[in-house]
Formats: sequence, structure tokens, C-alpha cells
Amino acid sequence: MKIKLDRTKCDGFGACARWAPETFDLDDWGYVSLTHAGNVAPEHEDGVRRALLDCPVHAITELHTVAEVDATR
Ligand code: SF4
Repeated sequence: MKIKLDRTKCDGFGACARWAPETFDLDDWGYVSLTHAGNVAPEHEDGVRRALLDCPVHAITELHTVAEVDATR
């Protein structure tokens, strides 16, 4: 699974890091960055999917196609 994060939308609620701390790094103000460039290990996918659903501003997106993944490089 690969995800991307739109930091311009992130409001720093921190919900994603609560569900998937291995994938979302919180800074001192509660804003996040992605670990492992958004590549999610299979064992962390459930938590990341919950984070996607819980993000109140829809800042996290799952990438489904090779073209979408290539666009993040
Ligand atoms: S849940 Fe959404 S708004 Fe909150 S810190 Fe994560 S990406 Fe940002």
C-alpha cells in the first residue's frame, strides 16, 4: 500500500498518528509527515486505513495506480 499526504490540508489533529504511529510522524505542533515515503508495510495497513477514514480534512490519500505512485516521485 502506498499513500500520499497533502500537508497543505493537514490541520494537525493528530488522529492519523494515533492509529498508525509507524507511518505518521508528529512534529511538536501536531502536524505530520510520512515515514518510509508513504510506503506502508502490510502489517500496518489496517491502522493506516483507519487513519484515512478518521482524517477530518481528507489530507491522506491511498494511491492505487502506478501513474499515481510515479507522480509522487
Ligand atoms: S489526521 Fe489528517 S489533519 Fe490530522 S494530523 Fe493526520 S493528516 Fe493532519
